[in-house]
Formats: sequence, structure tokens, C-alpha cells
Amino acid sequence: MNRHRICPWVLPAAIAALSLQSASAQQQPTTTPNFKLQTSNSQQTTSHEPRATAAQAATSASGIELAALDRAANACADFYQFTCGGWAASHPLPADRPRYGRFDELQERNNQILREIIERAAAKSADPDARKIGDYYASCMDEAAIDSKGVTPLKEDFDRIAAAARPSDLAPIVAALHLKGARMFFGFGSTPDLKNSSSVIAGLAQGGLGLPDRDYYLKEDANSLKLRDQYVQHVARMLVLAGDTEARAIAGAQGVMRIETALAKSALDLVSRRQPAKVYHKMTVAELAAITPVFDWPAYFRGVNVPPIDSLNVSEPEFMKSVNEVMTASPLDDLKAYMRWHVLELNAELLPKEFRDENFAFTQALTGAKEQRPRWKRCVDSTNGDLGEIVGKTYVAETFGAEGKERTLRMVQAIERALNRDIQQITWMSDETKKQAAVKLKAVANKIGYPDKWRDYSALRIVRGDAVGNSVRANAFELQRQLAKIGKPVDKTEWLMTPPTVNAYYNPQENNINFPAGILQPPFFNKAADDAVNFGAAGAVVGHELTHGFDDQGRQFDAAGNLRDWWTPADGKAFEERATCVANQYGGYSPLEGVKLNGRLTLGENVADNGGLRLGWMALMDAVAGKPLASSDGFTPEQRFFIGWGQMWCENKSDQFARMLANVDPHSPGRFRVNGVVSNFPEFQKAFGCQAGAPMVNDPACRVW
Ligand SMILES: [Zn+2]
Repeated sequence: MNRHRICPWVLPAAIAALSLQSASAQQQPTTTPNFKLQTSNSQQTTSHEPRATAAQAATSASGIELAALDRAANACADFYQFTCGGWAASHPLPADRPRYGRFDELQERNNQILREIIERAAAKSADPDARKIGDYYASCMDEAAIDSKGVTPLKEDFDRIAAAARPSDLAPIVAALHLKGARMFFGFGSTPDLKNSSSVIAGLAQGGLGLPDRDYYLKEDANSLKLRDQYVQHVARMLVLAGDTEARAIAGAQGVMRIETALAKSALDLVSRRQPAKVYHKMTVAELAAITPVFDWPAYFRGVNVPPIDSLNVSEPEFMKSVNEVMTASPLDDLKAYMRWHVLELNAELLPKEFRDENFAFTQALTGAKEQRPRWKRCVDSTNGDLGEIVGKTYVAETFGAEGKERTLRMVQAIERALNRDIQQITWMSDETKKQAAVKLKAVANKIGYPDKWRDYSALRIVRGDAVGNSVRANAFELQRQLAKIGKPVDKTEWLMTPPTVNAYYNPQENNINFPAGILQPPFFNKAADDAVNFGAAGAVVGHELTHGFDDQGRQFDAAGNLRDWWTPADGKAFEERATCVANQYGGYSPLEGVKLNGRLTLGENVADNGGLRLGWMALMDAVAGKPLASSDGFTPEQRFFIGWGQMWCENKSDQFARMLANVDPHSPGRFRVNGVVSNFPEFQKAFGCQAGAPMVNDPACRVW
């Protein structure tokens, strides 16, 4: 999940909720300010009935998309090609996307609906909530007004930065800019206490890098060197556009690179950050001040308006020491250039055309997208990102009936029964741990479609014509909302994704699974499909999220969402051995020449995919017991089940984007999500008659759940 507004500095816990697919993969790299332009979502036309989708229209009697198949491919040699080859050939990468897959296809349809909802709101303004989304969107769309303002909207920030005379002046400036949403030095927000999930505490996390991950600063291969060079040039050009002389901008950009490289060197890598114990360092404010003496924490806390705190979680103490070092040792001009750059990065989409074009030019270098997405799509995304529960409320009313919720709930319950049985049946776990696992499973809460109570945005001021102001006020509103939770019990009814989002997640600290309305449509959930296809698709999606509670990370949390080891040592070891099999299997996959997947980074997702499809299978067997399904569309029910799984993951992407995702995405590419799982599945091999030695027969097969 990644995700829209759940940026690292809002949710500093390194233990983010575990999504079905990375949000950043959907549109923009994490490095651009377009992090705000990152949710999105789906369908067409305007009736107030739930609508038939394009995917439904194209499917067959059983729900399989026959045109998506490549019948010339051998299912036992490359099942992804067999299920998706037709789709991939008929859906070339659109010029404005670095990747286009089934998630994106549905997201595009959702976006059409959102556009209608928002444009309707922009045209009439009786209801205060509707007026907010209408005014926000209209301001974002008004490029002429944006162009005519130049960089005036940033003057206050630039003046504040310019006034700093010494490193100890930085804290209130950083606070003011964090409040507006700028990424610099570190992130600050609130998080459930990892060891006491009923209580929200303050948290600090590493941050402040303009490139997608620390490794981008440290690797020495040709691609990384080139990208760093392009980044420095990009920063310099942005500073020139903002008014710096060429010489000052170049010096500033080099300073930015020095600062970010120093921060990157002390940052934890992504694999380490998946380990809860490595990011749990609760300390007093006095202890924090002792490792960062240059930084005036009382001034910072006043600046972001946090309730009184005396302790907090510092996810990466070594990183904070290097923040102190950077602030102490860097020339003040470098620090100022770094802060100016991140103000520009944050607002680039809402600045004049030269900035937007330059911003896109760097996005291109990073992702390989050929064209900028149409403005309306970017503005729909940011409206949904900043005011998602207003947009979502209307979206849900128009697209998602009570029937959708009911059917999904039935499927969730079937999958939960399957996992319960799976836990009881597995041979590698002791009864003692099984008992604990069953307790945890029973405690999982199901959230389906949309929140029971909608967020109140009345304190957020939206002004038509003030695009930058609306955006930074929305960021401040969100950070204040997060900080106001400190000292209170966790609100488990809150959603981390908006209703139109095409994604799903498991939250380990709340022990709940969450399925936004946006994903409960074809090809993921298809009312018209038969059970075989639906259990292979939607059933496996539900199973995926549920399995996250028991993957290498999720298993470290108990039924209440606390970081607590409930496994016997022998069972923990047996789990690790099985997980290592999966890590080695996927670590051997190569998404493009010279690039290997990181088996440890993707381990949780791969365990969830394998477990999810297993649970879908078990639930299907339950559902058809005594009333077997017939062949349909030329496939047996068993074959249709696996095709249902495969057809969720069809995609095309640019080489640059594939490379980026291999570095930062905990999810494997579609091809390996399909092939990696089916090759561990004896029932697949039986269904398609695959012989030992075929590429889709992994020997020995890896299996955790
Ligand atoms: Zn996942």
C-alpha cells in the first residue's frame, strides 16, 4: 500500500501497514512531491447504480478474460505469459505511465468517476464539504493563475530560511516546513507504541532524501552514478527557476547532494526497517536531546504544535546522530539550499509551468514515463489525497452497495475458516504455538469498503485560487490530526486508505484487514464470475492480507497488535527455515538483465501471496464440496482458479521503473507474483499437467502456510 497521505513523516513507525501493492508503483516515484498525487481510483459514467465495468463486459461465462490469455504459451513453462500474454500485448504502456497493470486499469476507471464527482462539486457549491473538494480541484486545475503567481507563494518560506544565522536557528524553521509537508532531515508524527498498541506516542523516523532510497546515494554502478548526476542538475535547475544565480544554484545542488549522501550513509536499509526490533527505540526527550545537541527540540515541538510529550520512539537513533552532525558541520549555505530545495520539491506541481516541466523531466529519468499525466488526473489524485473521505463518501454512495459489503464479508469469513484449518493441519508447528495463532486469527477485525464514521474536515480552510495554500494547509491539517492522537488510545476504526483506492492492507499494530471499496471490482472481485475464478482472485487477495498477520514481520505481533514473541523457539526456527526457502526462491528471479529481486525485502509479500492463494484454494474446495463445478470456457474449475490469480497481475512497465521497484518495492513484479506462487503449488501442476523439471515446478517447493 503505499499509499497516499501516509508519508513517512506522518507515520514514522517503520512498521507501515502491509498493502497488496505499492502505492508508489501506481503513478509517481516516491521522490517527487507528487507523493500527494498518489492515491487514486476507478470507473466510468454517471448513473447512481453500481456500474458495470469494462472488465466485466470483456469477460467470459466463467469470469476469465479469454482475450488476456496467450494460448500459444506453455502454461507449465511460463504461466504468467499464458494468463497475461494477450493482455500485455493489447495494453501497451501508455505514454504517461511508467507502469500499467490491472490495478492501474481499474484505478483509471475509478478516476473517471472521481472526476465527475469533483467536477460536479466544483460547479455547484451549496454543501460546504462539496465546496471544499470543488474549490481544491478548481485551484489545482487553474494553471493560468498558478503561472501568474510565479514563486510568490513560497516567499514566506524562503525568507524564513534566509534569516537563519546559525545551526541552532534551524529547529523552528524545520518545524514550520514540516508542518507544511516538506521532507527534510527526518519525519515526525504519531504512532501506536509497538509494545503497547493501545497507546499512541510521538515518533521520529529517518527521512529527508530526495531520491527514492538510501541505496541511490551509495551504489557505484553506472545507472546509479548517472541518476545522481541527473539529480544534482535537476536540483540546480529548480533553484535557478526559483531565482538563484547559476553559480549559486550549482553550489547549492552540490551541497544538497553532500547533505543527503551523509544522511543516506547512516540511514537503515529497507530490509532492516522491516524488522520491528530494529526500529523500536523509545527514549525520553532528554535522551533525544543528548544525541542531537544542536537541535532546539522545545522550539521544534512548539513549532509543530505537538501536545506535551516527555518520551517518543526514535526509529533510527544513529540516523538522528548524523542529522546532528550534518547540521553542525555543513556550511550554512548548504543547509539553506537543502531546505529551499525541499520546499520546491514539495510544491513543484503547483508552481509555474517551468517548474512542472522540470519536475517531470526528472520523473522521466527516474521512471521512464514518456509523457506527463493529464492535469486533471493529477488534480483528482491530489484532491483525493488531501480530502479523500469527502470524495470517498460520494464515491461509495454511487458505486458500492450494501450487497458488495455483504458478499465480501462472506468471502472473508470463508478465508478465515480456511486459515484456521490450515494452522491446525500444518505439521511444523507445535500445539502451543498453534493455540496462540488461532487466538490471533480470531482477533483479526475485518474492515470492508469504507469507514463507519467519516473524517471531519471543517477545520481545514480551502480557498479557491490558492493552490499552494490549500495543499500546505491540508498537510498541516493532517499532521495536526496525527499529533492530536498522542496520549490517546489507538482508533482502530480509522482507515489508512481512502475508499476509492485500488489496494488493500493488513495493519499489524491493529490486527485488522482493510479492503477499500475501490478494489472490490473486477478483475479482483467479480460478481459475474464463478466461484473458481473469484476464489483465485478475490479469495487470494483476502488470503494475502490475512497471511500478513503471519508473515515474517506480522508474526512478531500478537493478537492485540503488540510486538511480542508468542512463538516457541523451535516453531520460530521452523518458520524461519521455511521463509528462507521463499527468500532464496524469489531472490533468484531477475526482472531485467543485471537486476535481481531482493528476496529479503520482498519476503513478507511473497509469503502473503503464497499463503493467500493456498487459502483461496482451500476455501474454494470447501465451497464446492459435494457440488463440483463443471468445465467452462474450455477450462476445468481448477485451471480457472489459477487463471483468476494470474490475471490480476498482468502489467507492462518501463525498464527504469522496473529497476526502481526492484530497489524499493517490497512487492515482487507481476510475473513473479504469478509464477513464484504457482510453481510452489502441486495442485497447479496437476491442473495443467506439468511434469517434473518444468519451469513451473519448483523442487523442492517452498511452503510456509
Ligand atoms: Zn501485501
